[in-house]
Amino acid sequence: MFKELIVAENAGFCFGVKRAVDTSTDYKEKSKSDIYTFGPLVHNKNVVDHLRQKGINEVDINNLDKLNDKDTVIIRSHGVSPQVMEQIKNTGAEVVDATCPYVLAIHKRVKKYYEQGYQIVIVGDKNHPEVVGSNGWCDNTAIITKDGEGLVISAPKVCIVAQTTEKKANFEKVIEVVSKQCKEVVTFNTICSATKERQTSAEDTAKTVDVMIVVGSRSSSNTTKLYEICSKHCENTIFIDNGSEIPKWLFESENIKKVGITAGASTPDWIIQDVLEKLRGYLEK
Ligand code: SF4
Repeated sequence: MFKELIVAENAGFCFGVKRAVDTSTDYKEKSKSDIYTFGPLVHNKNVVDHLRQKGINEVDINNLDKLNDKDTVIIRSHGVSPQVMEQIKNTGAEVVDATCPYVLAIHKRVKKYYEQGYQIVIVGDKNHPEVVGSNGWCDNTAIITKDGEGLVISAPKVCIVAQTTEKKANFEKVIEVVSKQCKEVVTFNTICSATKERQTSAEDTAKTVDVMIVVGSRSSSNTTKLYEICSKHCENTIFIDNGSEIPKWLFESENIKKVGITAGASTPDWIIQDVLEKLRGYLEK
């Protein structure tokens, strides 16, 4: 039994992920066609299993040939390049674009400045699907860097954007490196506040509790990051995928008074609610 249960202010699905998941389930309900998502909608097994049970499966660039004009493909929040979009459309399938509007804004800037002759620099992870998609909007000519280390720029005009989940410190480092080499540098801080907000409120909560619970998939990088942050401030931080993984000792220890909970941007509300319901059963009345 414990006395208090504190839920971090910003926890769970971000706006863009929620929109993509809702779009797919809404389409499935009103459409008779087979619904596919282009790649997994989120890095969370519970969500992927839930969508599969509803008959929403995945397709990727290597098996587009299984699509036909009776199918519908949902583009996830990470977005895609215009070339990939074209390939999907060429299958005859209907395409529903659930790219997060914040990512669409990056595509527009990359395209606009590339067409004006700027060298595009993207601060982020070169293998992340969002970055791969954004690079397509400048014909895959972007220089992609994590923190500007070893970066040599010969172009006279440079436009810098960031992956939406990138650290601000890395973005600023790249601006510094590029500004020393080029006269004309245009920068857009395209980092999304959802990640930062989740990290700040998880940290604030972890500082005040005896046990901190992070809910989400171990394959989700943003949830793993939350776990790392919480662990720094609360030595009893635990990582669970869903309510069935809540450890027994949590309910048996007499030293635990306050329990905190947070969840990654890819953790659905129904999983968070299930965990909360189980925990509330052990709150002192
Ligand atoms: S983290 Fe931000 S940019 Fe990415 S999907 Fe969520 S709301 Fe959109």
